[in-house]
Amino acid sequence: MTVCSPDLNVARRAAELARIAEDTLDVLVIGGGITGVGVALDAASRGLSVALLEADDLAFGTSRFSSKLVHGGLRYLATGDVATARESAHERHLLMTVIAPHLIRPLGQLLPFTHGVTARQRAAGVVGMGMGDLLRMRARTTRTTLPPPRLVSARTARALVPALDRRGLHGGMLSFDGQLIDDARLVVTAARTAASLGARILTRVRAQDLHAEGASAHDALTGERLDIRARSVINATGVWAGTLDESITVRPSRGTHIVLDAADLGGPSAALTIPHHGSISRYVFALPQQSGRVIVGLTDEDAPGPVPRIATPTGGEIAFLLETLNRVLAEPIRLEQVRGAFAGLRPLVDTGADSTADISRRHLVADSPAGFVNVLGGKLTTYRRMAEEAVDLASRVGGLDAAPSRTASLRLTDTGRAMSDTAPGGPSRAQVEFAVRAEGAMTVDDVLDRRTRIGLVDADRLRMQPLVETILAETLSDLA
Ligand SMILES: Cc1cc2nc3c(=O)[nH]c(=O)nc-3n(C[C@H](O)[C@H](O)[C@H](O)COP(=O)(O)OP(=O)(O)OC[C@H]3O[C@@H](n4cnc5c(N)ncnc54)[C@H](O)[C@@H]3O)c2cc1C
Repeated sequence: MTVCSPDLNVARRAAELARIAEDTLDVLVIGGGITGVGVALDAASRGLSVALLEADDLAFGTSRFSSKLVHGGLRYLATGDVATARESAHERHLLMTVIAPHLIRPLGQLLPFTHGVTARQRAAGVVGMGMGDLLRMRARTTRTTLPPPRLVSARTARALVPALDRRGLHGGMLSFDGQLIDDARLVVTAARTAASLGARILTRVRAQDLHAEGASAHDALTGERLDIRARSVINATGVWAGTLDESITVRPSRGTHIVLDAADLGGPSAALTIPHHGSISRYVFALPQQSGRVIVGLTDEDAPGPVPRIATPTGGEIAFLLETLNRVLAEPIRLEQVRGAFAGLRPLVDTGADSTADISRRHLVADSPAGFVNVLGGKLTTYRRMAEEAVDLASRVGGLDAAPSRTASLRLTDTGRAMSDTAPGGPSRAQVEFAVRAEGAMTVDDVLDRRTRIGLVDADRLRMQPLVETILAETLSDLA
């Protein structure tokens, strides 16, 4: 297995692109979201030669707009899909204990027993959290890694989430799941780990045409056309998969979050879990983030038509999230207090279901009639398993002599640890420099939107932009 530097930057990119036409790669991966970088990491760690093409930046697509939870699979149990629930709990266990314990922490989630939550919803929540704990035990996740659920008093509930309405509050049920420091950070860290094993991670290169023996592509920085040869090709472009393979029909579903100041909710130390009006299986979550913000989500809306570069939240979705949250708060949060909003598109495979909420979240790994492999759907939580299956299939299709997957016991690099503590005031000079020298950032947006999450709030973006521009320009000229 090749061991290289994990650092990604414009100089490494240029050198790798200059030589890419010389070789026939074992695996060519298209898409630099969590699925694609997971595939590149799996393949490189098996000793295969790998390149990944990303049309824009790492984590440009859905992977940065998630709820940032490493799920135990409870939602799948609610739909009777026990196998997917178990898989999710198993992958959560691996991520929290072996692969990325430095990027994930346990997060308490409180279902408040208050007038906004009916007796039926409370009972369903208690049963569901109990079943979730069975999944935890079956995956052998210890109580130290994830404490079991417990009933809490009204006093404890208010201590965890001070903004809760105390009138009619009879405590609640507290359960635990994994929370990523940041979803884009998981992508960048996995990409750096793949690069440390020799994978060529090439951003701003768009694949235009895929076939069994490679792809033609366009380098957005030089305008050059590239023809890349490979023994196997894997399409991991998420919601855009259908643009490269007409045999796939993706049915995107939009999920929106709003961003609030944690102070407006009294600085919660646990997440709030609030059932949708009249539902016992769908929830709105208010999730505290390390940056002094809380994100509140999420919605599930059919998003037909051409896939946008970046999805836009609607006023109706924002109003729905506020209305659901306000049902359990002492003081309602007003629209003016919403600091930002973001939306991501779930890459669901069209099954003809009436509503996107009814479509299975299970992933798809299949070979295309055109001779390459598609890997699509699933969750951030299950990316490793999806990647393993995709590389197994690509090895069969491409006749590769690949070793078994190693990623279940492979820890992601922690050399970028300093980037995990971006202060609410914005990144430091050293962090911006690191983003450019070691994490492949090339533009101000890369730094503000994907190496840090300052860009989630427009006012913060405007404040930080001039400083980031200056440091970025200096660091890029130093690398040239
Ligand atoms: C609102 C929301 C909340 C979610 N919350 C969670 C959660 O809490 N926990 C969890 O486990 N999962 C969650 N998910 C699911 C998870 O986010 C997705 O399953 C996952 O991020 C999909 O990753 P991906 O790599 O397949 O797609 P993407 O992240 O979209 O990556 C695809 C990439 O392909 C690139 N691309 C497209 N076309 C080309 C081309 N022609 N050439 C080169 N590159 C190309 C794009 O630029 C993009 O970067 C959530 C999803 C949504 C929408």
